[in-house]
Amino acid sequence: MTPLEVLLRQHIAADGPMPLQRYMALCLGHPQHGYYMTRDPLGVRGDFTTAPEISQVFGELIGIWVAQVWIDAGSPSPFSLVELGPGRGTLMRDMLRATRKVKGFADAARVHLVETSPTLKAAQELNVPGAHWHDSVATLPTQFSIIVANEFFDALPLQQLEQQDGTVFERCVDVVDGALALVRVATIKANPFGIDGIFEESPARASTALALGHLLHDHGGATLVIDYGHRKSAMGDTVQAMMDHAYCSILTAPGEADLTSHVDFEALGLAFETTHCRVHPVVTQGAFLSAMGVDLRAQVLARDLADDARGTLLSGVKRLVDDAQMGQLFKVMAATSPGLNVPYPFGVA
Ligand code: SAH
Repeated sequence: MTPLEVLLRQHIAADGPMPLQRYMALCLGHPQHGYYMTRDPLGVRGDFTTAPEISQVFGELIGIWVAQVWIDAGSPSPFSLVELGPGRGTLMRDMLRATRKVKGFADAARVHLVETSPTLKAAQELNVPGAHWHDSVATLPTQFSIIVANEFFDALPLQQLEQQDGTVFERCVDVVDGALALVRVATIKANPFGIDGIFEESPARASTALALGHLLHDHGGATLVIDYGHRKSAMGDTVQAMMDHAYCSILTAPGEADLTSHVDFEALGLAFETTHCRVHPVVTQGAFLSAMGVDLRAQVLARDLADDARGTLLSGVKRLVDDAQMGQLFKVMAATSPGLNVPYPFGVA
C-alpha cells in the first residue's frame, strides 16, 4: 500500500466516501506524497512523454506563434511570457531559442512559470534561468501576457457525476471489502445533459480559465492551450491513470500513477468567454503545426543531421502531427483579449 493510500483510508474512515475530485487532487498534489511532488514523470524512464520532449520543433513553432501575437499587439514592453505546468522547462527553452532573433522580444519578455512541483521547478531552473515562479495563476503580474499551457489542464482534478434513472450521484472513492473502490453518493448537482450516464465537470479548470481571462481582458494578451480532449461537451468517463507508459486503474498505487482526464474545450472556452475574451475555434494539433510550417522546419533541421538522428527527428515530428498518433486527439485553442486581431492560424487552419 502506498503511503498516500494509508492517509486516504484515514480520511475516508473519518469523513466517509471521498469525492473523486478530492482523490485526484490529493493523488496529484499532496505536499509529501502527491504524484507531481515527488518525481519527474516525463521521458522514457518516466510514466509518460509530451510533445516538447518528443521534438524541439514543437516549442520552436509555438515560440513563433507567441512572437507573432506580440508583434501584432504592437510589441508591448515589458510583457509576461507565461507557461502553466512547464514540466522540465523544455518548451519554454525552445520558445526562447526560436525567438532570440525577433527584434526587441527577449528584452521585453519577463518569463513567469506556474508550477507546484519542487522536482520539476529544479529542472526548470536549469533550462530557463532567470524565470519567476508562481504556485498559481493568482499571483501573475498585471500586465500584457501571452500564456502557453501544454498538457496542463488535463492534470487538473475534476468531478465525475452519474445520472441513473433520473437521479444524479457523485462518484466517490470508498473502502469496500478492504480495498479502494468507486461508489456513488447522491448529490443535488444538476446534469446539463439530462440523460442517464456519466458526465464530468472541472471547477479547477474553470476557475483557472476565469483568472486567466480576467488578466487578459484587463491588461491584454492571449492564451494558447494545447491538450488532449474534445471540442464539444459530451457525456462520458475520461479519467485515466498511467504508470510506466501503460494505463492502469485510477485506484492502483495512489500518488504513484499519473491521473488525467480529457479536456472539455467547450467548457474551457465558455469560461474565457465569461470574461469577455474572444475564443477562436479549436483546431487539431496536426492542423496547427502544419499551418505553422512544421514540415519546412523539420526539413531544415534534417539537412545537417546524420541518418540516425534524421530518422529520430522525422519520426518525432510525425508523432506530433500524424492523425493516428497525436495529430487529431490533441487540440489547440486560443483566447485573446478583445482588442487583438485573430491570431494565425485560427480562422485559417
Ligand atoms: N507542459 C509540460 C509538462 C506537462 S505535465 C510538457 O508539455 O512537457 C503537467 C505539468 O503541470 C507538470 O509540470 C506539473 O507539475 C504541473 N502541474 C500539475 N498540476 C498543477 C497545478 N495545480 N498547478 C501548477 N502546476 C501544476
